[in-house]
Amino acid sequence: MTDRRAELAANLAAIRQRIEAACAAAGRDPAGVTLVVVTKFFPASDIELLAGLGVTDIGENRDQEAGPKVADLSPEVAGGVRVHFIGQLQTNKARSVARYADVVHSVDRARLVTALDKAAGAALDAGERTAYLEVLLQVDLEEGERAGRGGVLPGQVAELADRVAQAEHLRLRGVMAVAPPGLPENGTRAAFARLAQASRQVAEVVPEARLISAGMSGDLELAVAEGATHLRVGSAILGSRPAPR
Ligand SMILES: *Cc1c(COP(=O)(O)O)cnc(C)c1O
Repeated sequence: MTDRRAELAANLAAIRQRIEAACAAAGRDPAGVTLVVVTKFFPASDIELLAGLGVTDIGENRDQEAGPKVADLSPEVAGGVRVHFIGQLQTNKARSVARYADVVHSVDRARLVTALDKAAGAALDAGERTAYLEVLLQVDLEEGERAGRGGVLPGQVAELADRVAQAEHLRLRGVMAVAPPGLPENGTRAAFARLAQASRQVAEVVPEARLISAGMSGDLELAVAEGATHLRVGSAILGSRPAPR
Protein backbone atom coordinates (compact mmCIF):
# COMPACT_ATOMS: atom_id res chain seq x y z
CA MET A 1 0.00 0.00 0.00
CA THR A 2 1.32 3.45 -0.83
CA ASP A 3 1.40 6.01 1.98
CA ARG A 4 -1.34 8.03 0.31
CA ARG A 5 -3.56 5.01 -0.11
CA ALA A 6 -3.08 4.08 3.54
CA GLU A 7 -3.87 7.64 4.62
CA LEU A 8 -7.06 7.76 2.53
CA ALA A 9 -8.09 4.31 3.75
CA ALA A 10 -7.70 5.32 7.40
CA ASN A 11 -9.58 8.61 6.94
CA LEU A 12 -12.34 6.87 5.01
CA ALA A 13 -12.73 4.23 7.71
CA ALA A 14 -13.03 6.95 10.36
CA ILE A 15 -15.70 8.79 8.35
CA ARG A 16 -17.64 5.59 7.71
CA GLN A 17 -17.59 4.98 11.46
CA ARG A 18 -18.89 8.49 12.13
CA ILE A 19 -21.69 7.93 9.63
CA GLU A 20 -22.63 4.60 11.21
CA ALA A 21 -22.65 6.12 14.69
CA ALA A 22 -24.75 9.06 13.49
CA CYS A 23 -27.22 6.68 11.83
CA ALA A 24 -27.41 4.55 14.97
CA ALA A 25 -28.09 7.65 17.07
CA ALA A 26 -30.80 8.77 14.65
CA GLY A 27 -32.33 5.32 14.27
CA ARG A 28 -31.54 5.32 10.57
CA ASP A 29 -30.23 2.62 8.24
CA PRO A 30 -26.71 3.56 7.01
CA ALA A 31 -27.71 2.16 3.61
CA GLY A 32 -29.86 5.28 3.24
CA VAL A 33 -26.84 7.57 3.42
CA THR A 34 -24.47 8.00 0.48
CA LEU A 35 -20.98 9.37 1.02
CA VAL A 36 -19.89 11.81 -1.69
CA VAL A 37 -16.15 12.37 -1.33
CA VAL A 38 -15.31 15.94 -2.31
CA THR A 39 -12.07 15.77 -4.28
CA LYS A 40 -11.69 19.46 -5.25
CA PHE A 41 -8.04 20.59 -5.16
CA PHE A 42 -6.83 16.97 -5.17
CA PRO A 43 -5.58 15.07 -8.23
CA ALA A 44 -7.21 12.39 -10.37
CA SER A 45 -4.79 9.90 -8.80
CA ASP A 46 -6.57 10.36 -5.46
CA ILE A 47 -9.90 9.57 -7.14
CA GLU A 48 -8.34 6.38 -8.51
CA LEU A 49 -7.20 5.39 -5.01
CA LEU A 50 -10.59 6.25 -3.52
CA ALA A 51 -12.38 4.16 -6.14
CA GLY A 52 -10.13 1.26 -5.18
CA LEU A 53 -11.24 1.77 -1.58
CA GLY A 54 -14.92 1.45 -2.49
CA VAL A 55 -15.84 5.10 -3.05
CA THR A 56 -18.64 5.31 -5.61
CA ASP A 57 -19.43 9.04 -5.60
CA ILE A 58 -17.16 12.06 -5.87
CA GLY A 59 -17.87 15.79 -5.71
CA GLU A 60 -16.22 18.69 -7.53
CA ASN A 61 -17.03 22.38 -7.36
CA ARG A 62 -15.25 24.08 -10.28
CA ASP A 63 -15.72 23.20 -13.93
CA GLN A 64 -12.22 24.36 -14.92
CA GLU A 65 -10.76 21.84 -12.51
CA ALA A 66 -13.32 19.05 -12.72
CA GLY A 67 -13.52 18.72 -16.53
CA PRO A 68 -9.83 17.90 -17.11
CA LYS A 69 -9.64 15.82 -13.93
CA VAL A 70 -12.54 13.57 -14.90
CA ALA A 71 -11.04 13.25 -18.39
CA ASP A 72 -7.81 12.00 -16.75
CA LEU A 73 -9.49 9.07 -15.00
CA SER A 74 -8.91 5.56 -16.23
CA PRO A 75 -11.89 4.18 -18.17
CA GLU A 76 -12.75 1.71 -15.37
CA VAL A 77 -12.89 4.41 -12.72
CA ALA A 78 -14.60 6.94 -14.98
CA GLY A 79 -17.25 4.34 -15.78
CA GLY A 80 -17.76 3.33 -12.16
CA VAL A 81 -17.81 6.57 -10.24
CA ARG A 82 -20.69 9.03 -10.09
CA VAL A 83 -19.65 12.66 -10.46
CA HIS A 84 -21.53 15.27 -8.42
CA PHE A 85 -21.09 18.93 -9.34
CA ILE A 86 -21.53 20.83 -6.07
CA GLY A 87 -20.25 24.34 -6.78
CA GLN A 88 -21.81 27.56 -7.94
CA LEU A 89 -22.49 27.23 -11.63
CA GLN A 90 -22.56 29.93 -14.29
CA THR A 91 -24.86 29.34 -17.22
CA ASN A 92 -21.93 29.50 -19.66
CA LYS A 93 -20.40 26.43 -17.96
CA ALA A 94 -23.57 24.34 -18.19
CA ARG A 95 -22.61 22.73 -21.49
CA SER A 96 -19.25 21.61 -20.13
CA VAL A 97 -20.65 20.27 -16.86
CA ALA A 98 -23.36 18.32 -18.74
CA ARG A 99 -20.57 16.29 -20.41
CA TYR A 100 -19.30 14.67 -17.22
CA ALA A 101 -21.63 15.30 -14.27
CA ASP A 102 -24.21 12.74 -13.20
CA VAL A 103 -25.79 15.06 -10.64
CA VAL A 104 -25.72 18.86 -10.26
CA HIS A 105 -26.40 19.88 -6.64
CA SER A 106 -26.34 23.63 -7.10
CA VAL A 107 -29.39 24.56 -9.14
CA ASP A 108 -30.61 27.83 -7.65
CA ARG A 109 -32.34 29.85 -10.37
CA ALA A 110 -34.64 29.50 -13.37
CA ARG A 111 -32.02 30.66 -15.89
CA LEU A 112 -29.71 27.89 -14.79
CA VAL A 113 -32.51 25.33 -15.20
CA THR A 114 -32.99 26.50 -18.79
CA ALA A 115 -29.25 26.40 -19.52
CA LEU A 116 -28.74 22.95 -17.98
CA ASP A 117 -31.75 21.50 -19.76
CA LYS A 118 -30.44 22.70 -23.10
CA ALA A 119 -26.92 21.53 -22.23
CA ALA A 120 -28.09 18.08 -21.15
CA GLY A 121 -30.12 17.75 -24.36
CA ALA A 122 -27.08 18.68 -26.45
CA ALA A 123 -24.89 16.23 -24.52
CA LEU A 124 -27.43 13.45 -25.06
CA ASP A 125 -27.62 14.23 -28.78
CA ALA A 126 -23.84 14.22 -29.02
CA GLY A 127 -23.61 10.85 -27.27
CA GLU A 128 -21.62 12.42 -24.43
CA ARG A 129 -24.12 11.19 -21.88
CA THR A 130 -26.72 8.47 -21.89
CA ALA A 131 -29.05 9.54 -19.09
CA TYR A 132 -30.96 12.56 -17.95
CA LEU A 133 -29.00 15.02 -15.85
CA GLU A 134 -30.08 14.69 -12.23
CA VAL A 135 -30.41 17.92 -10.30
CA LEU A 136 -30.87 19.10 -6.73
CA LEU A 137 -32.12 22.54 -5.77
CA GLN A 138 -29.62 24.42 -3.63
CA VAL A 139 -31.56 26.02 -0.78
CA ASP A 140 -30.37 29.10 1.06
CA LEU A 141 -30.43 28.37 4.79
CA GLU A 142 -29.28 31.80 5.93
CA GLU A 143 -31.77 33.93 7.79
CA GLY A 144 -32.21 37.69 8.09
CA GLU A 145 -30.02 40.04 6.14
CA ARG A 146 -27.50 37.35 5.20
CA ALA A 147 -30.17 35.49 3.22
CA GLY A 148 -30.30 35.53 -0.56
CA ARG A 149 -26.73 34.74 -1.59
CA GLY A 150 -26.33 30.97 -1.55
CA GLY A 151 -29.26 29.29 -3.19
CA VAL A 152 -32.98 29.60 -3.73
CA LEU A 153 -34.92 31.01 -0.80
CA PRO A 154 -37.17 28.47 0.95
CA GLY A 155 -40.26 30.39 -0.13
CA GLN A 156 -39.31 30.00 -3.80
CA VAL A 157 -38.39 26.32 -3.74
CA ALA A 158 -41.73 25.00 -5.03
CA GLU A 159 -41.73 27.33 -8.02
CA LEU A 160 -38.19 26.36 -9.00
CA ALA A 161 -39.03 22.66 -8.52
CA ASP A 162 -41.87 23.12 -10.95
CA ARG A 163 -39.47 24.59 -13.52
CA VAL A 164 -37.18 21.59 -13.26
CA ALA A 165 -40.14 19.22 -13.44
CA GLN A 166 -40.99 20.73 -16.81
CA ALA A 167 -37.46 20.49 -18.20
CA GLU A 168 -37.16 17.76 -20.78
CA HIS A 169 -33.63 16.53 -20.08
CA LEU A 170 -33.39 17.07 -16.33
CA ARG A 171 -34.62 14.91 -13.49
CA LEU A 172 -35.34 16.58 -10.17
CA ARG A 173 -33.96 14.44 -7.32
CA GLY A 174 -34.12 16.69 -4.24
CA VAL A 175 -32.43 19.48 -2.36
CA MET A 176 -28.97 20.50 -1.22
CA ALA A 177 -27.58 23.08 1.20
CA VAL A 178 -24.50 24.25 3.01
CA ALA A 179 -25.11 25.16 6.65
CA PRO A 180 -24.51 28.83 7.44
CA PRO A 181 -21.03 29.19 8.96
CA GLY A 182 -20.38 30.10 12.56
CA LEU A 183 -23.57 28.76 14.15
CA PRO A 184 -23.66 26.78 17.40
CA GLU A 185 -24.74 23.14 17.01
CA ASN A 186 -28.41 23.82 17.69
CA GLY A 187 -28.38 26.57 15.05
CA THR A 188 -26.84 24.27 12.46
CA ARG A 189 -29.35 21.57 13.33
CA ALA A 190 -32.20 24.07 12.96
CA ALA A 191 -30.83 25.08 9.56
CA PHE A 192 -30.82 21.43 8.43
CA ALA A 193 -34.38 21.14 9.73
CA ARG A 194 -35.33 24.04 7.41
CA LEU A 195 -33.76 22.06 4.57
CA ALA A 196 -35.87 19.02 5.51
CA GLN A 197 -38.91 21.29 5.32
CA ALA A 198 -37.85 22.48 1.84
CA SER A 199 -37.41 18.83 0.87
CA ARG A 200 -41.04 18.14 1.78
CA GLN A 201 -42.14 21.07 -0.41
CA VAL A 202 -40.15 19.67 -3.34
CA ALA A 203 -41.68 16.22 -2.83
CA GLU A 204 -45.12 17.79 -3.14
CA VAL A 205 -44.17 18.88 -6.66
CA VAL A 206 -42.19 15.76 -7.62
CA PRO A 207 -42.94 12.89 -5.22
CA GLU A 208 -39.83 10.86 -6.07
CA ALA A 209 -37.46 13.83 -5.50
CA ARG A 210 -36.47 12.96 -1.94
CA LEU A 211 -32.71 13.26 -1.80
CA ILE A 212 -31.22 15.63 0.77
CA SER A 213 -27.58 16.62 0.23
CA ALA A 214 -26.29 18.17 3.45
CA GLY A 215 -23.48 17.75 5.90
CA MET A 216 -19.74 18.11 5.43
CA SER A 217 -16.65 17.14 7.44
CA GLY A 218 -17.62 19.28 10.42
CA ASP A 219 -21.35 18.76 10.68
CA LEU A 220 -22.31 15.45 9.12
CA GLU A 221 -23.83 14.09 12.36
CA LEU A 222 -26.28 17.00 12.51
CA ALA A 223 -27.22 16.48 8.87
CA VAL A 224 -27.84 12.77 9.40
CA ALA A 225 -30.05 13.62 12.38
CA GLU A 226 -32.16 15.81 10.06
CA GLY A 227 -32.53 13.24 7.31
CA ALA A 228 -29.60 13.84 4.94
CA THR A 229 -29.29 11.15 2.28
CA HIS A 230 -26.04 12.47 0.77
CA LEU A 231 -23.05 13.75 2.75
CA ARG A 232 -20.36 15.79 1.00
CA VAL A 233 -17.11 15.16 2.83
CA GLY A 234 -13.79 16.60 1.68
CA SER A 235 -11.09 17.62 4.12
CA ALA A 236 -11.73 14.89 6.70
CA ILE A 237 -10.82 12.33 4.04
CA LEU A 238 -8.36 14.06 1.69
CA GLY A 239 -6.69 16.48 4.09
CA SER A 240 -6.78 20.23 4.31
CA ARG A 241 -6.97 22.39 1.21
CA PRO A 242 -5.32 25.72 0.53
CA ALA A 243 -7.30 28.65 2.00
CA PRO A 244 -10.48 29.48 0.04
CA ARG A 245 -10.05 31.61 -3.06
C1 LIG B 1 -15.79 21.83 -0.31
C2 LIG B 1 -17.20 21.51 -0.15
C3 LIG B 1 -17.61 20.47 0.70
C4 LIG B 1 -16.67 19.66 1.55
O1 LIG B 1 -16.32 20.37 2.69
P1 LIG B 1 -15.36 19.75 3.82
O2 LIG B 1 -15.54 20.68 4.96
O3 LIG B 1 -13.99 19.75 3.26
O4 LIG B 1 -15.84 18.38 4.12
C5 LIG B 1 -18.98 20.21 0.78
N1 LIG B 1 -19.88 20.92 0.06
C6 LIG B 1 -19.51 21.91 -0.76
C7 LIG B 1 -20.56 22.65 -1.51
C8 LIG B 1 -18.18 22.25 -0.89
O5 LIG B 1 -17.83 23.25 -1.71
